[in-house]
Formats: sequence, structure tokens, C-alpha cells
Amino acid sequence: MISRYRLVVNGSGHAFLREFGCSCARCRERKHTANTSVSIVGGDPRSGRLTWHALVDVGLGVNTSLCNYFNPDEARVDQLLLSHWHPDHTLEINRLGETARRTAFRRGEKFTKIPTWCRNGTARWLQKNHSYEWYRHLLPHNTNEASHPGSILDPVPLETTGLKITPVAVSHVTADIDPANFKDRLYCSAFFVVEAAGKKAVLLWDADGSNDWILAPDTPEQEDAVALISEADYLFIDCFNWNTEEVRGFNTGHLSFSTVRKYAAAISPRQTLLVHISGHEDGKGNPGWGWTDEQWTVEAQKAWDASKLPGSVRVPSIGEEFPLF
Ligand SMILES: [Zn+2]
Ligand SMILES: [Zn+2]
Ligand SMILES: [Zn+2]
Repeated sequence: MISRYRLVVNGSGHAFLREFGCSCARCRERKHTANTSVSIVGGDPRSGRLTWHALVDVGLGVNTSLCNYFNPDEARVDQLLLSHWHPDHTLEINRLGETARRTAFRRGEKFTKIPTWCRNGTARWLQKNHSYEWYRHLLPHNTNEASHPGSILDPVPLETTGLKITPVAVSHVTADIDPANFKDRLYCSAFFVVEAAGKKAVLLWDADGSNDWILAPDTPEQEDAVALISEADYLFIDCFNWNTEEVRGFNTGHLSFSTVRKYAAAISPRQTLLVHISGHEDGKGNPGWGWTDEQWTVEAQKAWDASKLPGSVRVPSIGEEFPLF
């Protein structure tokens, strides 16, 4: 069967979502929030019925977003893709796995473990942090590599047609740690390029501001990677703060909006969607601090227009769909 694909936003929040005891407007908003996650959903073009679902990251709140989005009779997970092991991208693995197992039981079907793509370093972290789920719920596809940022990795093997997902290694310094020795660097993180029916989406989170290969590729492979992520229909990009990438001498591991602007100028996306949104580290009283998603969109658009950056920019909302056809 030919499927037609779309992206669905499950969450665009940063790691800590809301903090009790914080007086900022963002923490005081009483609405459903979730860590950054997107679903790639296939549907039958005639009936609209769900045919396939790949989930990219499964942090806090993501399962609630899926429950709100999917028709209960159709809900399924065919593939899990993990950008990296950080808790805000993996904390609901147990809930997802148990939901899939209990749903299979309810439907009188046999539970099959969820095929899960991740890099070798992340696989090692998951065996440590989520050993129960790793063996009970997941069918891991481990890349067995630790390639440098800007390397194009082998496409994710998929049990569906008309869709290609290419992972690219990225620097995300707070996750690029060897679980056996926290002082050793081990590249654990990737982002995904999703291509279907001539449309392209780049899911570029979490990343730090040292991914200079995007601005100035200096090997033929990095040039290929930049070509792969250029002129995307949708660029979902890590935007943790307005200006801040270092706090008390420590790298936050994330992009600020000023680096997002440089990357967007280099790779010309048609739509830029800001995710992993926070602003807390910008500090009270500074731009970014306490901004709600709506304020982020307004301020980002002003800056985009002022610098004549390509396409549009905004924060997407949970449940929002982006067609890949
Ligand atoms: Zn994160
Ligand atoms: Zn706050
Ligand atoms: Zn992270």
C-alpha cells in the first residue's frame, strides 16, 4: 500500500518544562506541555487510515500528546528513533513500551518489541539507565559507530515504503559523554532528515553552538551533509535561549536564537520551527526569560524580518501537522 506521510508535533518544550517556585510567565501557564518530540505518521491516502508511525524521542508528556492525537482504535508505534539518551528524550520509554504491550493484549495480538534506532553511545547509556525497558520493550538497532559531528550515517532501516530517514551526527556536548567514564568524550547524538514525496524535513535538536560544519564545512562529507539539510520545507531546530549558550562557564549544550539565525542563513529553510524552547538561562529581566511560546513567535518573527532571513519562523503547537506530500 502507498502511504502518505505527515509530521505531527508531540512537544516543543525544553528539558524541565515548568518549574515550581519559578514566577516566570512560562512556568505559570497552565497548559499541557511536553518535551521536544515529533511523530512521522503514514496514512492511506483514500481512507485516511493510519498505516505507520515512527516516534522521534519520548520525553515527558509525549505519551499524553499521542493519546490526545490518535484515534484509540488505530494507535500504533512501528519505529522509535532516539536523537540521544538525555532523560528529556527518553523518560517515557517505560510508559510507551507498556502502553504498546497492553494495547496488543487488549486487541488480542502478540506484542512485538518496538524497533528502536539509536547511536552506539546512546545504546550504552540506555542499557545502563533503562535496562528493564531495553530488554522488555525495545528491539534495538545500534549503529556501532561514534562518527564525528557532520557525518552522514546510514539511513534508518524502515518497514515502510516511500520514506527515507537519514541520521546525521551532531555535537551536543552535554550528551557526548562515555557512560563508562564521564570525562571521556563519546559522540552519542544525531538528528534526522526525513524525505518523502519530494518534501524534506530536518529535525535538528539537541545541538550545541559548536556545530561549525553547518556554517563552514571543511570536508567533502560535511559539504554533503550541508547539502542534505539545505532548503528543507521544515527545519525543526533547537532554540533553548534567546542569547545564552554558556552559564557560569559551562556550555548549555544547546543553540541560542542568535546561532539559529546563523544556521538558517546558511541552509535556507522554507519554514523554521523553534523547539526545545526555554529562555530560563537568559536570566530574569532579559529577552527570552519567561517568554511563552506566543511571545517567542512574535519576537522571533521581528528578528527574522529585521535580518531578512529566508522563509518564516515560529514555535509550533502540540498536535500541529506538517504534510510531507
Ligand atoms: Zn533535550
Ligand atoms: Zn520559569
Ligand atoms: Zn540533550
